[in-house]
Amino acid sequence: MSSLNLKTPREAIYQSFKGHPGACPKCQGELLRSTQTYMVATRYGKELGDTFVIGGDFGWFCTQCPVVVIDADRVGEMMSVGKPGWRVGPEFLVLGIVDLDAIPQNKRHLPLGAPGAPIPLIEFSNLGLSKKSQTGSLNKTGRKRHK
Ligand SMILES: [Zn+2]
Repeated sequence: MSSLNLKTPREAIYQSFKGHPGACPKCQGELLRSTQTYMVATRYGKELGDTFVIGGDFGWFCTQCPVVVIDADRVGEMMSVGKPGWRVGPEFLVLGIVDLDAIPQNKRHLPLGAPGAPIPLIEFSNLGLSKKSQTGSLNKTGRKRHK
């Protein structure tokens, strides 16, 4: 396994590329593709829609700095196949990486986001959302809840 530090909040940079994204856009460091579990939200302007937990290999992690380059086309592809009943909009936002290792052993049989089993999300550092809009939409998966 690589020595990527996935526990530090990363800065997500969206790019469109074919094959390899090249060097890190911030520090020119080497980017390594890694399959991780992500939380992705659909987005309507500044408002978040549903959130989904998906595994994917669309993230390229810088080995030198806390940047992850997101293959935007790939995420779009994954989101567009969706599932019946998913409210998938034209926009999406990758919220962060789900730290599956952080789930206590005795909770691992529960579905992610079940009551009593909060999702350990390592949120990206540059989401650009207000704290207010984040709370209330991150503690559940694939389900909409409106007050
Ligand atoms: Zn870098």
